[in-house]
Amino acid sequence: MADVTLDEVVALCKRRGFIFQSSEIYGGLGSTYDYGHYGVLLKNNVKAEWWRAVVQERDDMVALDAAILMHPRVWEASGHLEGFTDPLVQCLGECKKRWREDHVRESQLGDEGAEGEISCPECGGELSEPMQFNLMFETHMGPTRESGSEVYLRPETAQGIFVNFKNVLQFSRKRPPFGIAQVGKAFRNEITPGNFIFRTREFEQMEIEFFVPPDDAPEWHKRWMDERMRWYAELGIREDKLRLREHGPDELSHYSSATSDIEYLFPMGFSELEGIANRGDFDLRQHAKFSGEKLEYVDSATGDRYVPHVIEPSAGADRATLAFMVDAYDSEEVEGRERVVLRLHPRLAPVKVAVLPLVNKDGQPEKAREVYEELRGRMPAEYDTGGSIGKRYRRQDEIGTPWGVTVDHETMEDDTVTLRDRDTLEQTRIPIGELGAELERRLAEPWTSPKSG
Ligand code: ATP
Repeated sequence: MADVTLDEVVALCKRRGFIFQSSEIYGGLGSTYDYGHYGVLLKNNVKAEWWRAVVQERDDMVALDAAILMHPRVWEASGHLEGFTDPLVQCLGECKKRWREDHVRESQLGDEGAEGEISCPECGGELSEPMQFNLMFETHMGPTRESGSEVYLRPETAQGIFVNFKNVLQFSRKRPPFGIAQVGKAFRNEITPGNFIFRTREFEQMEIEFFVPPDDAPEWHKRWMDERMRWYAELGIREDKLRLREHGPDELSHYSSATSDIEYLFPMGFSELEGIANRGDFDLRQHAKFSGEKLEYVDSATGDRYVPHVIEPSAGADRATLAFMVDAYDSEEVEGRERVVLRLHPRLAPVKVAVLPLVNKDGQPEKAREVYEELRGRMPAEYDTGGSIGKRYRRQDEIGTPWGVTVDHETMEDDTVTLRDRDTLEQTRIPIGELGAELERRLAEPWTSPKSG
């Protein structure tokens, strides 16, 4: 089946109102995007599936929603003020563009740490010496811009979890191993954002900090890698497009003793979807040192105390959304016409069912509306009368609606409708009274992409 390009996905997103360039009427703002109706529904479903898997279906995780703005000392303790930098090189030739040195090394020499001459990827010009560039967005708190009033837009949600460790421990009645899960916006002044919503300067993270007894950390690291790989696969990502890549020693962050990335085969090649790091006790120790608070676990029965180690599965909601869309995009020829279809897992699909009257007369629109109003209380549904039935189905295929219900002349006689399956195009006749339960049954079934194999 057809391999999709990023341009095709971008075009679909625009055509069907999933994602727009931010501030488009002003010419757009570099690499920031706005989500339209179907984009919001899809990304919400991605986040909801994450919450379901990591909180609802476990009993060792609690939720948190920390503020984006945090005390500036947090970023001293975490090492971001000093160390959250990327090496920036600027073209000294014609185009004067700025690049991430490690990315240029990787694409021109095969490895981000490789020695050797590199040149501007755009115009071939000479490149400047690298300069370390801090990725945090800075702003000021209060009415004046005096020194000492700097605050930062958080570059990751993780630190909000660490600084709340004590609060959560006190109120959650949990003991290690347990985790704290959070979804929220993060901001990074990326040198070279790009590839649509893959790398932007404002994005959403879905992060877990999982606190474990120190000796158990390697085992939990492995468990979380398996767990998170399974999540993507169960939501329909084809397994041959997913891989786990272990970081080499030169790639590891200052805090991490081991990190593996879950990567997806995007149109631009295998790229990170999620990082799963063993952070040791670095963060809790740093915050204990900088805040003066004791951040440790004390076993009230034995009196044992220790600083838990942390396993961090850190995913991007926008990147995951892009991966689900890329993996789902398909085009085929049906009766001599191209059919573009998003073969999304039904649980991720923005709309589960579309109810369409075959013709716009003979009481069919009213009947279809009735069916729709009955269904929409049970699942996201749409009612559409606009244009030919073929056109309406093409629209639903492109937004990934797994099922279509058509009300026709037979419906008016016997209260049955046709139920069309997006992937097989099979049509079955079913009594209206059984529709809701049948759709709920299908929605709960395991699903594999018809693009697999
Ligand atoms: P990269 O190497 O791609 O810059 P990273 O290793 O710096 O990513 P992490 O700090 O591990 O990324 O962040 C965790 C997750 O947050 C990433 O796996 C990704 O899904 C998401 N993420 C990070 N930076 C961005 C960004 N600029 N735009 C969109 N998502 C991002």
